[in-house]
Amino acid sequence: MDVTLINGTTYHLFQPLLYQVATGILSEGEVAPPIREILRRQRNVDVRLGRVRDVDVEAKTVDVAGPGVSYTVGYDTLIFAAGSSQSYFGNDGFAEDAPGMKSVDDALELRARIFHAFEIADLQTDPADIERWMTFVIVGAGPTGTEMAGQIAELAHRTLPGQYKHIDPHRARVVLVDAVGAVLNTFGDRLSTRALRELHQLGVEVELNTKVVDVDPTGIEVETVRGPERIPAMTKVWAAGVSAPPLARRLAEVTGARTDRAGRIHVEPDGTVPGHPEIFVVGDLMALAGDDGRQLPGVAQVAIQSGRHAAGQIKRRLAGRPAGQPFHYFDKGSLAVISRFSAVASIGGLRLSGFPAWLIWLVVHLFYLVGFKNRVSAVLHWAVSFLGRGCPERVTTLQQVHARTAMRQYGDPFAPAPDTYTGSRTPVTSGG
Ligand SMILES: Cc1cc2nc3c(=O)[nH]c(=O)nc-3n(C[C@H](O)[C@H](O)[C@H](O)COP(=O)(O)OP(=O)(O)OC[C@H]3O[C@@H](n4cnc5c(N)ncnc54)[C@H](O)[C@@H]3O)c2cc1C
Repeated sequence: MDVTLINGTTYHLFQPLLYQVATGILSEGEVAPPIREILRRQRNVDVRLGRVRDVDVEAKTVDVAGPGVSYTVGYDTLIFAAGSSQSYFGNDGFAEDAPGMKSVDDALELRARIFHAFEIADLQTDPADIERWMTFVIVGAGPTGTEMAGQIAELAHRTLPGQYKHIDPHRARVVLVDAVGAVLNTFGDRLSTRALRELHQLGVEVELNTKVVDVDPTGIEVETVRGPERIPAMTKVWAAGVSAPPLARRLAEVTGARTDRAGRIHVEPDGTVPGHPEIFVVGDLMALAGDDGRQLPGVAQVAIQSGRHAAGQIKRRLAGRPAGQPFHYFDKGSLAVISRFSAVASIGGLRLSGFPAWLIWLVVHLFYLVGFKNRVSAVLHWAVSFLGRGCPERVTTLQQVHARTAMRQYGDPFAPAPDTYTGSRTPVTSGG
């Protein structure tokens, strides 16, 4: 069996710890090891960099755009595991001033924005400007937004005080905004209330039942229960909502598959696309109901288990054995960190909070980090940050600050370039 793995980046990303890259606790290498290195002993796997732009279900090929190179790959069986993208609920323009947190690029850009905000505040003389630079708004009070808000508050209140001559980082405002009436609302009332209390203790201002109506470079417009308001803030983080990547729409078009509201592909109980037993969709891209009739969530365990299930089905087919059981998701629980030594955990019927939940978080995240070296260095970085007050990965470059502008100006490096392909691969002349 030959396997071709096509990915838009050279690394495998452990997204749950991305917020720690953005806030200077971990380095990007610790959460994003090279795919080639992970699979180096898997001799039958060919790893290729590129973005799949189109799929031809008749010819059984996918068209791929790499940086300056376009190529086509044939398949017998196709597995789509393209994950999810940030959703701005139809307001994609918000992305410029409120970057999301989906990739290493996002995390490094946010790191630069967060630490530069304190630097620039230190240079201001007008109190209104200082306040604007020292106000951080996080949109979305799910696990990512809550973790981000807690961590920025810890930076401001534990790590940075004493390091600036002209500002007091204690005075930074961290505002967590959500359109619904609870933080971490999928964790249930008790844990949600506990998380809210802890956020307040950390000094995070939590604005619930508050809808974002506009985002601009110097602030954010919200519709609160008190009426419309403006929060002046230079640094905004978008942690609300996901949608399927553009490729999902193309796959749905060519296969006739139905999609849900977020654009995810409805699959058969075995994970295949209806009418196309040779195409599997797994992970965040897959829309499938669980045992309780509700759509399976876009979480890592669904992705891991559905990926394993698809691989198992393919192995059975190749061995000439009948198809196995439909995909069954086993929910191992959910975890979210509020601050150092404090988390919430919902595992089966068990609801834990505080230090015990944080210990579980620590063990689980260490277990799932890829690579022994990464685990050792993550533990060292956590010791520096959680036991001490350090923040070991604070380096930011001007390139990170200006990357978004530069990419807009110079275009997408993965845009198809029909004349520059090499080797015997078939050139692709248009993207999907
Ligand atoms: C900030 C953050 C925190 C999270 N925290 C948690 C958590 O604590 N617990 C939890 O269970 N889940 C968490 N999740 C969700 C979890 O990370 C996802 O459910 C999981 O990664 C989904 O796996 P996947 O393989 O479907 O997609 P991804 O892990 O998103 O992988 C998709 C891959 O496809 C590539 N790709 C996309 N489009 C193309 C294309 N056209 N061509 C080629 N390659 C393409 C991407 O580059 C990426 O490498 C978090 C997610 C985020 C963003």
